[in-house]
Amino acid sequence: MSATPPGPHRFGRVALLGRPNVGKSTLLNALIGSDLSIVSPKPQTTRHRILGIATHAQAQIALLDTPGLHLGGKRAMNRQLNRVARQVPDEADVIVHVVAAPRWTDEDQQVWDLISRHDVPRLLVINKIDLVKDKADLLPYVASISESREYQGIHYLRATHAKGLPHFLDELVKLLPEGEAEYDADELTDRSERFIAAEMIREQLMLRLSEELPYATSVEIEHFEQVGNLSRIAAAIWVEREGQKAIVIGSGGSGLKAIGSNSRRRMEKLFGNKVFLELWVKVRENWSDDEASLKQLGYSG
Ligand code: GDP
Ligand code: MG
Repeated sequence: MSATPPGPHRFGRVALLGRPNVGKSTLLNALIGSDLSIVSPKPQTTRHRILGIATHAQAQIALLDTPGLHLGGKRAMNRQLNRVARQVPDEADVIVHVVAAPRWTDEDQQVWDLISRHDVPRLLVINKIDLVKDKADLLPYVASISESREYQGIHYLRATHAKGLPHFLDELVKLLPEGEAEYDADELTDRSERFIAAEMIREQLMLRLSEELPYATSVEIEHFEQVGNLSRIAAAIWVEREGQKAIVIGSGGSGLKAIGSNSRRRMEKLFGNKVFLELWVKVRENWSDDEASLKQLGYSG
């Protein structure tokens, strides 16, 4: 990607924080060069802390993607998402605050309130600059943000097109502590293939389902077995009502079939082997507002 600056080897943990939908997961994927963290146009796609590892000659960066910190949303799931986001800065050597140009919302302010309490270097990423037609509009926008808030650097990015990334990466590496790499050079994440498989299925649910339905779904891997060059996976898609089950399955099973084949292709690319995937849709009433169900579905903390 970029020639990271010469000097001592550096290693550090970098938290990507921001309100929902600003492009945190897209940025993580661009920085590690792999579509690990799931992305969709809908807010609250990311429900977990996702570690992505970027290894360069002179530095290794452990990037921590987070659920978007958001206001409102009283359900147990919303509280859980905010809880995860709030814990991640404690682990970070550097915090990257991602916002989407040209807006600064109450939720952006809430993120600032959180990160300003942490005594580590902070970078501001102004993402989605492609959506700002007149770049002159950025000047007063940035001036008003930085007037009363201190960031070590401000970067303008278009994460979907890796625009501005090499310079951002160089500046990020300069802020990391000196140290040896903590992960093998070919390691991409600490998450299991089992976990990633569930995420790939959930990504399809986020992409295909509309309105409130994606938020009423979750995925549980019931069986994961490696047989030679084949991963055999059986997964349950949990919904909250019978009517939702019918929508996910689609007419003649077409919806479920598309979810299955798209997520299977994503898994095959990431795992580098063949995948055999079986999917079921099951109903568990009100799982997203029930702490015990959340725990069982892997939303712990
Ligand atoms: P997150 O919720 O902060 O993790 O945001 P995502 O990475 O899931 O991205 C949310 C949406 O914004 C997706 O549809 C992305 O494709 C889109 N997106 C991300 N970065 C950019 C960008 O630089 N420009 C534009 N136009 N869209 C972007
Ligand atoms: Mg995300």
